[in-house]
Amino acid sequence: MPDLAGILPELAAEMAAIKDRGTVAGYIPQLGKVDPDQFGIAVMMNDGRVFTAGDAGKPFSIQSISKVFSLTLALGHVGDALWRRVGREPSGNPFNSIVQLERENGIPRNPFINAGAIVVADILLQGHQPKEAIGEALRFVQYLADDETITIDRAVAASERATGFRNFALANYMRAFDNLRHPPELTLGVYFHLCAIEMSCVQLARAGRYLAHGGRHPDTPHSVVSAERARRINALMLTCGHYDGSGDFAFKVGIPGKSGVGGGILGIVPGVASLAVWSPGLNANGNSKLGSQALEILARRMNWSIFAPRG
Ligand code: GLU
Repeated sequence: MPDLAGILPELAAEMAAIKDRGTVAGYIPQLGKVDPDQFGIAVMMNDGRVFTAGDAGKPFSIQSISKVFSLTLALGHVGDALWRRVGREPSGNPFNSIVQLERENGIPRNPFINAGAIVVADILLQGHQPKEAIGEALRFVQYLADDETITIDRAVAASERATGFRNFALANYMRAFDNLRHPPELTLGVYFHLCAIEMSCVQLARAGRYLAHGGRHPDTPHSVVSAERARRINALMLTCGHYDGSGDFAFKVGIPGKSGVGGGILGIVPGVASLAVWSPGLNANGNSKLGSQALEILARRMNWSIFAPRG
């Protein structure tokens, strides 16, 4: 295997030299304050080895990456009944688009665009107060990462609520189609808080390990999800994890991945590794610019594309 311990610091140095770092997400004012000159990467190999470089230990707002964990949890609550309320097709539209919802009767294309994740948050709220639903999701992420220090940045959640007019529009619209069962402000309260979870690359890569291990939690004798469900979540990450840049990410990187507007990307190499990369500047599709570039280089050097011949 190529030497990851050497490759990652080289990659971080290469990224540090790049001047055009994309644009930090300014539409959430609290995120707009983040310094774009940061880059971190962490790789958790399935055999337990850990490799890191750059700002791998620095917490950032995971934003839409939380959609992977909330989907996993919601599937645990309601099973495949979830798919009656959310589709499984790439949207080909921006992450916060509303146009498709009208044509498709309030059923979001997939759980990784905002509308889909808002329905997932509504499912997590079933039978709970918002506080309990948020607490359950946070504890789930802490369990996956085996790290109780992971928290929610309340200032980011408040900043999202104050400026989340599009998300309110999406939620109200879906409520009109009866695809939201709770008052939009309560469902969105859950959604915003999950987006505002703060994690470092190391914590995120640890939390993603179950998807690289066929659904198993590698620190426990337990399964988080069945092998089939892990495979399906990976398939959704590959086809829908980067908004309308998902095809390009599959083309260039070739692994299941989920990005967030905080500049993070969680990547899964099934059977091999879980990894996370972070750089706050975004490209035109709202995906981390340097993060995507770094993963493209890394996947090529390691021959990690799931489309590459094995063995
Ligand atoms: N909280 C962000 C929003 O709802 C998430 C967007 C993202 O990371 O894609 O706009």
